[in-house]
Amino acid sequence: MRILVTGGAGFLGSHLSERLLAQGHQVFCLDNFMTGDASNVEHLLIQSNFHMIEHDVTAPFDLEVEGIFNLACPASPIWYQQDPVNTTKVSVLGAINMLDLAHRNNARILQASTSEVYGDPKVSPQSEEYWGHVNPIGIRSCYDEGKRAAESLFMDYRRKYQVDIRIARIFNTYGPRMSPNDGRVVSNFICQALENEPITIYGDGSQVRSFCYVDDLIEGLIKLFFAKDINVPVNIGNPEPFTIYQLAEKIIRDTNSGSQIVHRELPEDDPITREPDIRRAQDLLSWTPKIPLEIGLKNTIEYFRSGLNNPLPSLPR
Ligand code: NAD
Ligand code: UDP
Repeated sequence: MRILVTGGAGFLGSHLSERLLAQGHQVFCLDNFMTGDASNVEHLLIQSNFHMIEHDVTAPFDLEVEGIFNLACPASPIWYQQDPVNTTKVSVLGAINMLDLAHRNNARILQASTSEVYGDPKVSPQSEEYWGHVNPIGIRSCYDEGKRAAESLFMDYRRKYQVDIRIARIFNTYGPRMSPNDGRVVSNFICQALENEPITIYGDGSQVRSFCYVDDLIEGLIKLFFAKDINVPVNIGNPEPFTIYQLAEKIIRDTNSGSQIVHRELPEDDPITREPDIRRAQDLLSWTPKIPLEIGLKNTIEYFRSGLNNPLPSLPR
């Protein structure tokens, strides 16, 4: 298939492009390099089936395609909050432009949605039936509401124009090619531990997240995309919960680090708990994550130790 991956030079997009190429597809990787880096896909450029396109999804785009994975969007809180108006535009205009492209081409399109559509959930674990608890005017709302609006657009393009849509609600994912300074917890803690710098826990560290290794996540996205007629949102994530404090202790142990834990202020609206109910993915896709945190963290620590990673430019102030 001729497949477009928007945000293809990012953390998830680069792994996805790699996997699709390995399956024999022709991959068109579209990115404006806001939080991604060309070096993430440099090794793919020698493959004749791989094409890199520099473009911003907020502008209309045309290409002959049979499938689209729409991943373009800054994903880490510090980056999506840095220019919140842009985040809303990328989520909403990006979705409209890519849905129009899918419609014109009669192509299938998958949206990289997020557990953030559940906001700071009052129900745990979160199943797809839960409508969420989102602050619509808070500092996270550009991303949460942007992604919710995108889901709504996807459903409406299906109802009104019969576009063949997929919606993956992705929960916290980690692994090689995370950017060392994009501010997410796994990359922050590993980089701090490897430098023997203080590990910065926001709040008391009792907040809960469940961490999915990137290979499992990509497998889930591909299964969802190629499955027939699944036009409802599907949670893709690892259901094993950990507190942020437990994660810090694990990383200190696994890296043999001399780092001390320090506490910093908990950001506004930081969700207290996030845990996916993955029964729908298990039932419909026969998908279940296989890689435990111990193994995934080892691979990720190795990646950061190797020094191959590319820091993003400093956040504009
Ligand atoms: P990432 O920041 O590494 O990748 C996002 C990519 O999109 C980057 O390459 C960036 O340059 C590109 N991009 C941003 N704005 C763009 C624009 N206007 N036009 C074209 N490209 C643009 O983040 P990621 O972790 O790989 O996330 C990929 C997608 O998955 C995002 O949509 C994110 O919301 C979603 N997601 C990720 C996670 C996670 O834990 N990694 C969790 C939930 C949802
Ligand atoms: N966090 C932390 N220290 C850090 C970075 C993040 O304690 O250096 C916390 C953050 O407050 C949140 C959790 O770790 O409770 C996960 O943060 P991340 O930004 O990775 O993703 P989120 O789940 O907030 O989207």
